[in-house]
Amino acid sequence: MEHKGPAPDRRVIFASLRDYLEQIREEGLEGLPATPGKPPAAPPKAAPAAAAESPAAAREPLPAPTAIELFSAYPGLEKTTDLAALREFIGDCQRCKLAPTRINLVFGVGNPSAELMFVGEGPGADEDARGEPFVGRAGQLLTDIIERGMGMARAAVYICNVIKCRPPGNRNPEPDEVVACEPFLLRQIDLVRPRVIVGLGTFAVQSLLKVKTPISRLRGTWQQVRGIRMMPTFHPAYLLRNPADKRLVWADIQEVMKALGRSAPKRGERP
Ligand code: URA
Repeated sequence: MEHKGPAPDRRVIFASLRDYLEQIREEGLEGLPATPGKPPAAPPKAAPAAAAESPAAAREPLPAPTAIELFSAYPGLEKTTDLAALREFIGDCQRCKLAPTRINLVFGVGNPSAELMFVGEGPGADEDARGEPFVGRAGQLLTDIIERGMGMARAAVYICNVIKCRPPGNRNPEPDEVVACEPFLLRQIDLVRPRVIVGLGTFAVQSLLKVKTPISRLRGTWQQVRGIRMMPTFHPAYLLRNPADKRLVWADIQEVMKALGRSAPKRGERP
C-alpha cells in the first residue's frame, strides 16, 4: 500500500527505537541475534550465564569475592581504611579503557557511615561533567524518592555506581571495565557498611549478584551482598520512561523503610 502522509521524521524513529531498546535492556535483554531469525549464540558456560537457564539457579547468587580475592586485584586496597583513603588509592585511574574519554571519575557521595546505600550503573553525561553520581534527570528522580518518598536527606545516604567512569555515548559498561572497577565498589560497601543497599536497575543488580536474572523478576525480593541486605528495584531512568512502574518502586522502597524501621514522611514533609 502506498504511504500517503508526510515521511516520518528519522529522529523520532531513532528516539523511539532507542527508548524501546533501553526498556528491553532494563528488562534483561542482553543482545540481539546477529542474523535475523537466527537464535543468539549459546552463552559461555560460566556460572552467571548458566544461572540464566534455570530460575532457581538464577536466584542463587555466586559467593561474593572474598577479602583475599578483592585485595589481590589491587595490592594495597586492603590498607584503605576509609573512603578518603580509597579515593586516594584510586587516584587518576588509568586501569581500564574508559579513562581517556572521561571528564571526571565519579567516586560516590554522601554519608560515609550511611545506613542506606544506593548503587547505580555508571555515570552519564551530567555525572561525568560534575563528578557526582545521579545529578541528571534520573538523579533528580532518585533524590525525590529519597527526600519526598523516604523523608531522608540525600546527604544522609550514600550513592555510588558499579563503574566510576562514563562509557562513551552512554553505551553499556563492558565486562573488562566492570572487572577493573568492581573491587572499588566492593571496598566502598565494606567501608560504609550500610544496613541496606538498594540496587538500581538491571546492570547494577546483576553485577552485584553475579546473575543474569531480569530485574523484573528480581525487584522486590531481598538479596544479600557481602552480608548486607540488598533490595533490587527499577532504575530511575527506566521510571522516567515507564512512570506506571513507579508504584512497584514505591512498594520496594516501603520494604526498605520497614527494614530500616522508618515510617513514610507525612504529606508535604521534607527533610
Ligand atoms: N545512572 C546511573 O546508573 N548512575 C548515575 O550516576 C547516573 C545515571
